[in-house]
Amino acid sequence: MNTKSFVGKLNQITKALFSMTPAQREIVHQSIQALDTEISTDELIQPLFDLSAQCPHCHSSQLKKWGKSGAIQRYRCKDCLKTFNNKTNTPLAKLHKCHLWEEYARCMTLRLTLRESADICGINLKTAFLWRHRFLKAQAGQNNDKLSGIIEVDEFFLAYSEKGSNILSHKNKPRKRGGNIDKRTKEGQVAVLLSIDRSNHMINPILSADTTAEISANFSQNISEDSVLCSDGSWSYVVIAKEKKCDHKRLINGKVRVIDKVYHIQKVNGAIAHFKSWVNGKMKGVATKYLSNYLAWFRESNAKLNKQQILIAAYG
Ligand SMILES: [Zn+2]
Repeated sequence: MNTKSFVGKLNQITKALFSMTPAQREIVHQSIQALDTEISTDELIQPLFDLSAQCPHCHSSQLKKWGKSGAIQRYRCKDCLKTFNNKTNTPLAKLHKCHLWEEYARCMTLRLTLRESADICGINLKTAFLWRHRFLKAQAGQNNDKLSGIIEVDEFFLAYSEKGSNILSHKNKPRKRGGNIDKRTKEGQVAVLLSIDRSNHMINPILSADTTAEISANFSQNISEDSVLCSDGSWSYVVIAKEKKCDHKRLINGKVRVIDKVYHIQKVNGAIAHFKSWVNGKMKGVATKYLSNYLAWFRESNAKLNKQQILIAAYG
């Protein structure tokens, strides 16, 4: 864009901003931030095409370009003579309307709801739902980040939910979500561990039980020895810190909030609050069977969120 047309656009934008309500301005603000900090559209789409140059049928690397369907390159294997495109054997295999993926990925990077995304792309809800989870599956990495330095950790619980499990069967009966879960028993809840270090490395595995053994199995191999572990009073972390030769700062029951000015669990609690408000607010609750997709989505985009934004999300 040249300078003259930029100045013209800027004037239009400024005028539009002044005519908006504060809430509308906030949406614009968040969208701009999202452009800079969320996963980019390319990052969402590229892993889908990131096939090593191999035939998906016989793994030969002797390939020949074999025409295109739409924008998608087709190949033929010189050994087995079968053809394939770069969607074959990816989570996007057999999905259509690929010219809309970029737009859909953009909706996802803005964390729009299914209905909003479906409206923008002109697709139905069922397709929007299918695409979201294929895209997430394609880019969801493992919880294999390595944490070091000052490491904050905590667990949180989400109500077990079957929301959305009937979206593909065209039933429109609304389901109760959340509900009054007895917080003392933790029955009907799913436990998630979230740990983040001061360089924003993060893991957020789902725990099958809130026990020391389960926490250790999902956490110990991800932390470097000789780190400083900051946790609440939970005994599990005493055991793990000892095992990993980590210095351990326990912030017990909110009596002590910060030790030596730097050791606290506010960053991890901010991230947990951010995640919960995202899934329960914007996403209106998520089905437990898709929770790991949303955790991965959050983890990936968090890698780009700075500390300040997490705090704003947590306390704003
Ligand atoms: Zn082949």
